[in-house]
Amino acid sequence: MQQTIAALLALQELDTEIYRLRDELRRLPDERAARRAQIDAMIARKDETAARSRQSRLKIKEIEDLTTIQRQRMRKVEHESTQTRADMALLAAYQHQIKSLKRDISQAEEEGLALVSDADAVEAEAARMAAEIEQSEQVFAQFARNVELEVAQAREKLAALETRRRQRLSPEVQAEAFALYERLLASRAGVALAELDSRICQQCYMEVPVNLYVRVAKGDRVVQCPSCDRIFYVRV
Ligand SMILES: [Zn+2]
Repeated sequence: MQQTIAALLALQELDTEIYRLRDELRRLPDERAARRAQIDAMIARKDETAARSRQSRLKIKEIEDLTTIQRQRMRKVEHESTQTRADMALLAAYQHQIKSLKRDISQAEEEGLALVSDADAVEAEAARMAAEIEQSEQVFAQFARNVELEVAQAREKLAALETRRRQRLSPEVQAEAFALYERLLASRAGVALAELDSRICQQCYMEVPVNLYVRVAKGDRVVQCPSCDRIFYVRV
């Protein structure tokens, strides 16, 4: 049985590394996807901002076109008013029209100016966002290259370890003990064994009774932790 425990300990050593690598192979692509999503969200916000500035520019253009028409109309009315000096009533009507056109133009110009300063600010914000995105893309590209490299290395190491694991499956491990080990490995996140040190399980920190400690120390059978179920071993 001491041989079984020793063989399981040797396996555990490999499995700890195998679990660490598998975890890394899950974590790295997840982290890459999270970073990508972050940049994509930035791009969406920047596109939205750029669309807002385009809309502002269109509105400004509309106002400019409208005031151009109003100015033409005003000149026309001014010209007509100079032709009708005799008719005081008509002249008064023209004067009134000119006044109201002037007011409309002035209002439109004010509105246009406010929109221009707003559009300038939004455009500056979009440009700032674009610069930030470019920088993030560069950092991401470097990160993605590193991830690719690390994933390739981890896969290679994992394959080598899995080969070594198959070779290490020695006949001195009893089938029953090995099956228990495999079950615990899967259910206890890759840690099937627990060192028992001064009657304390070093995985769950539960204290065990003296008689149980004695059984583990004797090493003639597989003893599991009453709390976390892991297979106990003692350092000799
Ligand atoms: Zn335990």
